[in-house]
Amino acid sequence: MSEKLGFIGLGIMGKGMALNLLKNGFDVCVWNRTESKCDELIAAGASKGNTPADVAAKTDIIFICVSDTADVEAVVLGENGVLGSLKAGSLVVDHSTISPKATTDMAVQIEAKGAKMLDAPVSGGNEGAANGTLSIMVGGDADQVERAMPYLQAMGKTITHVGDQGAGQSAKLVNQILVIGTMVSMGEALLFAEASGLDLQKTLDAVSGGAAGSWTLSNRGPQAIVRDWRPGFTIDLQQKDLRLVLEAADHVGVPAMTTSLAFNLYRSLQTQGLGHEGNHAIVKALENLVDIRIGE
Ligand code: NAP
Repeated sequence: MSEKLGFIGLGIMGKGMALNLLKNGFDVCVWNRTESKCDELIAAGASKGNTPADVAAKTDIIFICVSDTADVEAVVLGENGVLGSLKAGSLVVDHSTISPKATTDMAVQIEAKGAKMLDAPVSGGNEGAANGTLSIMVGGDADQVERAMPYLQAMGKTITHVGDQGAGQSAKLVNQILVIGTMVSMGEALLFAEASGLDLQKTLDAVSGGAAGSWTLSNRGPQAIVRDWRPGFTIDLQQKDLRLVLEAADHVGVPAMTTSLAFNLYRSLQTQGLGHEGNHAIVKALENLVDIRIGE
């Protein structure tokens, strides 16, 4: 019989992920800080917890998908947090992208309760969350990864146990270094195409299937050329991930130059009040340097 599941954080990602657990027939108790975001999940068959602690008291495995390190700490360690009523033998699975160091520190507190923690950050965008096709990078004990596997498989397609606690978060930062390089290149390429008088749709058609093809180009390129800046992943959250990369790169002593460039381009957009837009709006930061607009 499957275990009782909790899901905390029903934002762009968490909503789709929790819905996929329900679609696969699992028993899910949800909580979200903004209560109204629970409605769709309850209509789909979830029950509702009153607080993160209430979710932990009622369930065996608690999945979390909130924004930043301090937010995971708030729902786990804070007032009415998971830790307050965590049962011995329970498992906490954190899908948020946060600091690897804070993750291992939190795991110590969770284990002091006789429970376990996996860090399991995800990649694949809101599309992957909705379709159950996420890539999930998991850090923690092998027996707990095996325990969580049926549920992770309901939410993702590529599930990789990359190492001990914290390793999932480090692998996710690797993912973000790769994604951001492609995002900067996409902005640069679209600006060049516009300035060269190319038809942007035909240009995307021409290059997407070749060696330059990527998830970013296929999913965010079509949005960018029609100036649709609605977020799959906001600039503010992208900036948070780049900060995590820069901190971790400093810690391990390696350069992260493209990450640093993108961090500063996004900062310029944040100062214009655009932090809520999608991360593909990086093209706007490049447009501002030359006063050219793509797709107009
Ligand atoms: P989002 O739509 O902004 O949702 C954030 C969620 O976190 C909301 O449910 C929010 O509650 C909750 N939250 C934030 N701070 C909180 C706090 N202090 N206490 C309680 N709840 C809090 O973000 P998202 O795009 O789903 O991203 C969630 C995580 O997944 C992030 O770590 C992000 O980096 C990662 N991620 C996102 C994507 C993507 O493409 N979007 C892809 C991979 C990974 P409210 O509803 O009350 O605001």
